Amino acid sequence: MGGGTEAFPDLGDHCQHDDCHQLDFLPFTCEACGKIFCLEHRTYRAHGCPSADRGSRTVAVCQICSAAVEKEEGEDDESAVSRHERSGGCDASRKRSGVECREKKEKPGVVSQLPSPPIKGY
Ligand SMILES: [Zn+2]
Ligand SMILES: [Zn+2]
Ligand SMILES: [Zn+2]
Repeated sequence: MGGGTEAFPDLGDHCQHDDCHQLDFLPFTCEACGKIFCLEHRTYRAHGCPSADRGSRTVAVCQICSAAVEKEEGEDDESAVSRHERSGGCDASRKRSGVECREKKEKPGVVSQLPSPPIKGY
């Protein structure tokens, strides 16, 4: 790379955000609305994506088995998770409990105890 000039029309694209329009060499295409945005405006929120509701697939995380449950349109986290539980796909044994591992790591009582030297002077 290097030696960049202004004469490469094929490289990059202009952000289609109304207040931006900056030329971005690594533009992002919004999966929902198909428009092109810079890094800053690539999220649905940043460009107020009109198609985000249809295009974005959000997931809810089950607290029991840590599974990511895909939410259906208009569904909130709670109902998505309860649907997942009802479907029988919930398996608590699959959940990785990082807490237990961390507790086991700590080994108490291995600290070698040096005899404290007699306090001299003072
Ligand atoms: Zn932008
Ligand atoms: Zn969009
Ligand atoms: Zn679950």
